[in-house]
Amino acid sequence: MAERWSVGARLRTLFGGGGAIDDDTWTDLEDTLLLADFGADASERLVDTLRDQVTKLNVSSARELQGMLRDAIAELLAGNDPTLRLTKPAPRADGTVLPAVVLVVGVNGVGKTTTIGKLSRFVVRAGRSVIVGAADTFRAAAVEQVSTWAARAGAEVVGPAQPGQDPASVAYQAVDRAISTGADVVIIDTAGRLQTKAGLMDELTKIRRVVEKLVPIAEVLLVVDATTGQNGLSQADAFIQHAGVTGIVLTKLDGSAKGGFVVGVQQLTGIPVKLIGYGEGIDDLAAFNSVSFAAALID
Ligand code: GDP
Ligand code: MG
Repeated sequence: MAERWSVGARLRTLFGGGGAIDDDTWTDLEDTLLLADFGADASERLVDTLRDQVTKLNVSSARELQGMLRDAIAELLAGNDPTLRLTKPAPRADGTVLPAVVLVVGVNGVGKTTTIGKLSRFVVRAGRSVIVGAADTFRAAAVEQVSTWAARAGAEVVGPAQPGQDPASVAYQAVDRAISTGADVVIIDTAGRLQTKAGLMDELTKIRRVVEKLVPIAEVLLVVDATTGQNGLSQADAFIQHAGVTGIVLTKLDGSAKGGFVVGVQQLTGIPVKLIGYGEGIDDLAAFNSVSFAAALID
């Protein structure tokens, strides 16, 4: 995994010399966290935690702060359960087996379609079959793009029968097809922009309602581009308010010096980060793990 987003190097420059801990130390630490996009709340909380520990444990050398920070971050992140729920719902009374349905939402360009390709590959590799619903039907190029990714991943695609077909009906058909073929997982791609934001939220609500006539939705994943930081989060706010988001996928961590955004996102939204994307390749996706992420961020 690329490590441009690590703050470890900066911490080593600041504290590696092992000087004494004083007021400047805390200012430097807070600035470092803010620059790495931890957000004001999480930065302050982490500095407070460390200050407490330094007093209690009688720590005198700044060198020790790096490890303490790593553990404090892991602990802060551990409050959120990152488990991706791909368990199938209980079969219907007549014995029909139902697929786990994942809806992928987020603003244009954040990496939804790419993430769907990566996630499909991941699930197929685990021995489960995937149907991708190409419900971003407003641009022919979007259907083509998700179809290419699905082919690479070894997943089937259900797309619009004619250009511009209603996205909710495509989503419905994808789930219906999975039920009739016994496919394990359905992943639905959606548009990131329509004429109006309200129109898009209505469309997503309709997709959810129509799909849930067949199967309860297992996950609504909101994709967020890590390079956009807090600004990207405010763009994503409408989705958080209206789309029933159950997990966040943070993409483009390879291109960001702001890995702290992972902490900021969870603090601000209360929604767990479940997957992280760190490149344009099909294998550049990982399940989120708080301990290893904190280590990669800080060490
Ligand atoms: P969508 O509009 O949300 O569906 O976004 P796309 O999946 O089309 O991705 C937009 C651009 O972001 C493409 O050029 C992708 O290759 C790129 N992209 C997606 N995920 C990542 C990532 O984790 N790292 C990098 N560097 N680029 C990514
Ligand atoms: Mg797309």
